[in-house]
Amino acid sequence: MSKPILVIGELAGQELRNVSFEAIAAAKQINVDAEIVAVLLGEGALEVSAQTMIQHGADRVITVEHANLENYTSEGYGQALLKIIEEEDPYGVVMGHTAIGKDLTPKIAARLDTGLISDVVSIEKEDNQEVFVRPIYSGKAFEKKTFKKGLTFITIRPNNIAMLERDESRTGAVEAKDIDIKNLRTMVKEIIRKQAEGVDMSEANVIIAGGRGVKSADGFKQLYELAEVLGGAVGASRGACDAEYCDYSLQIGQTGKVVTPDLYIAIGISGAIQHLAGMSNSKVIVAINKDPEANIFNVADYGIVGDLFDVVPKLTEQLKVEGV
Ligand code: FAD
Repeated sequence: MSKPILVIGELAGQELRNVSFEAIAAAKQINVDAEIVAVLLGEGALEVSAQTMIQHGADRVITVEHANLENYTSEGYGQALLKIIEEEDPYGVVMGHTAIGKDLTPKIAARLDTGLISDVVSIEKEDNQEVFVRPIYSGKAFEKKTFKKGLTFITIRPNNIAMLERDESRTGAVEAKDIDIKNLRTMVKEIIRKQAEGVDMSEANVIIAGGRGVKSADGFKQLYELAEVLGGAVGASRGACDAEYCDYSLQIGQTGKVVTPDLYIAIGISGAIQHLAGMSNSKVIVAINKDPEANIFNVADYGIVGDLFDVVPKLTEQLKVEGV
């Protein structure tokens, strides 16, 4: 029998992040016959999430509940995962390329003296071996990598590998594991969340991003209106953040967030290379800019040359009339 593949689920509050389900789909692409074992770490109330992981394709779920896992720390999560990896002896481990995934996986790989292929956007097969595709040079090229030996350990970029359809009739075992998480050198005392309006950008299928062309914080209000009609999130260029039209948490690009929504609408954004690094792999890109020579049109699937203060309200109104 082939070895299992571990999928590390990620919770945002009580809700599983979609990338957890995408990681299950990725594990199936690695080996459709392998047992997919989901791992959920936290403090309480993991049973419902465990069932959701099974309905999305996991065969078995291991939960570890401990007061020291209530908030993420690389030490706490690391202790739990290293123990599970030791016991399960998996063929591979898959996790989302999220803030937690980026922090945790290199540490675990180093501890296990194994490789890690991060930020995978697709998985191919060549000569019966898995080949992992990941963007390089800020998304201008892709490289293909394989493991020569050791654990197949990957992180996947959110929104790139389609999750399997949820099947509520699926069943599987949920195993609550007792692992003592101790001797942590750091602990989280308090998390102070920034007030974020609307949909979370990293999980959004639609992103409406504004640039310096939006001209003011007030100008961003029309972006929120459009985002509401489309059920999307609002993002921004660094130009808009630097000009204090919006918070830096909205910044997309080389030094901001990397996003790959189904639809990205860039409004009043010139398309600097550092911005493209964060959004050029979006599935459909629409640009609204008054300068027909703006670089953003070079990556856009659809372009509207015009004044955004004229175009955006009309677009929002029309979408309200037509329905989305
Ligand atoms: P601008 O370049 O000023 O473009 C504004 C656009 O709005 C123009 O194209 C203009 O034609 C259009 N416009 C103006 N008025 C209207 C109107 N009424 N209607 C329609 N269109 C209008 N940038 C990022 O975005 N993300 C990053 O992560 C990032 N990281 C960086 C890292 C480094 C090390 C460096 C050096 C730079 C980085 N930058 C980043 C900055 C980047 O180089 C650009 O300066 C920035 O992206 C420009 O933002 P912008 O397109 O909003 O502004």
